[in-house]
Amino acid sequence: MKLSIVIPVYNEGDVLYELHTRLRAVMKNNGYDYEIIFVDDGSNPTPPQFEKIMNKDEKVSVLTLSRNFGHQAAISAGLDQAVGDGVIIMDGDLQDPPEVILLFIKKWDEGYDVVYGVRKKRKEGFLKRASYYLFYRLMRTVSTIKLPLDSGDFALISHRVARLITSQAMPEHNRYVRGLRSWVGFNQIGIEYERDARIYGEPKVTIRQLFKLAYDGLFSFSNIPIKLMTIIGFFCSIVASLGIIIVLYKKINGIPIPGYASMAILILFFAGVQLLCLGILSEYISRITDEVRKRPHYIVKNHAKHEKNN
Ligand code: UDP
Ligand code: MG
Repeated sequence: MKLSIVIPVYNEGDVLYELHTRLRAVMKNNGYDYEIIFVDDGSNPTPPQFEKIMNKDEKVSVLTLSRNFGHQAAISAGLDQAVGDGVIIMDGDLQDPPEVILLFIKKWDEGYDVVYGVRKKRKEGFLKRASYYLFYRLMRTVSTIKLPLDSGDFALISHRVARLITSQAMPEHNRYVRGLRSWVGFNQIGIEYERDARIYGEPKVTIRQLFKLAYDGLFSFSNIPIKLMTIIGFFCSIVASLGIIIVLYKKINGIPIPGYASMAILILFFAGVQLLCLGILSEYISRITDEVRKRPHYIVKNHAKHEKNN
């Protein structure tokens, strides 16, 4: 039995040495063979650490993408290559502690198809923590499937689940991997763990990418945005009908109707509502366009392996 460990990496440095050392210590004595796939998501320059780690350890390979495709695409690229009976997905910045993998393996041995990490404590800034907290709860309320709270991509998934969520088997664009992982079903279980602080370097996922991820989750696993338009439209129509009745009543009874202020408010309000709805529609259209274009999710430049494995 073999485990594949998929690690997306973008512009990380010496953390890779410590990550590799700790991973090796964890994987050495648990009875399973393993492979480590670093997915270099277009790092610039390519971290020299890769070459050194690969020369030292024949279980390591480096899948280099042709440019930066983003965290989720990099995970998908690694998943597509992984051959193990189980696949572990973890970040390359040591925020996901390698030691937790032992707990994952225990549950996997018991027959679970998906064992995912649940963040008990986050060691990030207040704003980021609060946003994550609210986002996962919003997603829970609006999503069509039950998405686990406070769980990211850190997980161990069985071979059959890994095969189901590859970019060939599930070709949707704008991927929200943790959602796809829940969507497939089977036996799933969460394991609580403390997410470490990022000690090495700055976060590589930008705020903009985080918003995109949130949007991808929302639009891929909920129909609420488009339904919202109907709901807003419905309430606006009720308010409008009341307004018409009031205005007609005043007109018939010769009560003077004030002009400019009410007109301005109405025009501005409805212009705003219409633009909001158009915005929601354009979000759907842009996602449909992404699907119709059918571009690959990522492009592999090369897959470097230890000379023994070539
Ligand atoms: N990462 C990536 N591509 C990107 C951005 C980030 O492969 O475009 C990697 C990054 O090197 C790290 C992991 O994805 O290993 C998580 O990134 P980060 O720590 O910035 O995310 P956060 O922990 O802040 O959510
Ligand atoms: Mg991180």
